[in-house]
Amino acid sequence: MGWSQRIDEALAARRAADGWRLRRPVEHNSVREITLEGQRYRHFSSNDYLGLSQHPAVIAAWQQGAAETGAGAGASGHVTGYSRHHAQLEAELADWLGYSRALLFISGFAANQAVIHLLAEKQDRIFADKLAHASLLDAASHSPASLRRFAHNQPESLAKLLATPSDGGTLVVTEGVFSMDGDSAPLAEIAEQTRRGNGWLLVDDAHGIGVTGAQGRGSCWQQQVKPELLIVTFGKGFGVSGAALLCDDATADYVEQFSRHLIYSTAMPPAQCYALLAALRQIQQGDALREKLHSHIARFRAGAADLPWQLGASASAIQPLIVGENSAALALSQRLAQAGCWVSAIRPPTVPPGTARLRITLTAAHHTDDIDRLLEALYDAAG
Ligand code: PMP
Repeated sequence: MGWSQRIDEALAARRAADGWRLRRPVEHNSVREITLEGQRYRHFSSNDYLGLSQHPAVIAAWQQGAAETGAGAGASGHVTGYSRHHAQLEAELADWLGYSRALLFISGFAANQAVIHLLAEKQDRIFADKLAHASLLDAASHSPASLRRFAHNQPESLAKLLATPSDGGTLVVTEGVFSMDGDSAPLAEIAEQTRRGNGWLLVDDAHGIGVTGAQGRGSCWQQQVKPELLIVTFGKGFGVSGAALLCDDATADYVEQFSRHLIYSTAMPPAQCYALLAALRQIQQGDALREKLHSHIARFRAGAADLPWQLGASASAIQPLIVGENSAALALSQRLAQAGCWVSAIRPPTVPPGTARLRITLTAAHHTDDIDRLLEALYDAAG
C-alpha cells in the first residue's frame, strides 16, 4: 500500500470512530478563561495547575531574560547554547529536589526519549506501568530492550515481572500522578520492589511537581522516595515548558556525553531559564496557591458525587469523568461548551478503549464560582 492510500485509510478510520482531533487556535484570556472561534469559555482543560503561565513575576522574568540574552540559545548546549542561566537553573533544581545533578531538556517528551533510549540496551528489560505516558511507552517500545507492562499501580504485578531471571539491567517506569486518571502511584512500594529486584526506578512526575509535597517538591518527596531517575516537566505546575532529569553525577555525565537528544538539539532559550527560575520561586513560596487548588478539588469532588458518570479516584487537579463511548464523551463536552464551560473529551488511543472521558482539570486560578458553574452544567447535561 502506498503512502497516499495509507494516509487516506487512517484518516477515514479515525473519523469513523469519532476519534478526529481538532486543533483550533485558542486565545488565553487568563488561566481560567479562553476564547475559541469568538466564544468565551470558562476553561477546565489546562495543565497550568498553579496559574503561573500568567503570573506577573514569571512574565517579567521572561521579558527581562529576552532583553538581556535575546530570543534563543543559538546552538546546542554542547556547542555554545549553554549559559550561566541554564547552569543556575540546573543547580537550583538539583538542590531543591535533593539530587547531585539536574539536566535540562526542551520538553518532557524529549527527556523521556533521551533517558530511555540511552540507558536501555538489548540485554535489558523495562517494566512500565500500563498507563504510563506515551512518551515513556514509545521510548521503551522503540528501544532494543524488552518491554513488559505491569497492572496499573499494582506493585504485586510488578513483583511478578521482577521475579523472572535476567542477565541485563531492569528499568522500572512509572509516574507520580497519572496524566489521564489523576491518581498517584504507590511509589514507596514500587521503589521497594525495584530495589529488591536490583532495578533502577524512573519516575515521571510531570503532574506532581510544583503541586504536591512540601514546597511543591512533588510526588517522590511527598512519599519519601528517591528514584535513580526523576523527570520533572515545566509545562504544567511551572506554567512554562521544558523538563529536567534529576540523577547522580555519573548518570548525568553519561547523559551529557552520550545522549543524542541532548547533544543534537538546540538548548532551551536562556530567557526561558529566567522564567523558570521565577516560577520555581513562586512554587517554593506557593503554599497558598496549593491550598486554593486543593480547596477547589474538594469542592468539585463533593459536588460531583451524584453525577451519573464515574468520577475517577483522584485527589489531584486532574478529575476524570469516565463516560465510555467516544460519541458520548464528545456529546457531553459539547453540552458543557453550550453552557460556557470548556472541557476537552479524551478518547482512545490516549486512554484505553471504552473509557473515553472528560478530563476536567482544576487550577489555583479558578474561582469557586467557576467550580459551581461547571457542576451546574454537568447536572443539567445529566438531565
Ligand atoms: N510525561 C507525562 C506524564 C505527561 O503527561 C506529559 C505531557 N502530557 C509529558 C511527559 C510530556 O511533557 P512535555 O509536554 O513537556 O513534552
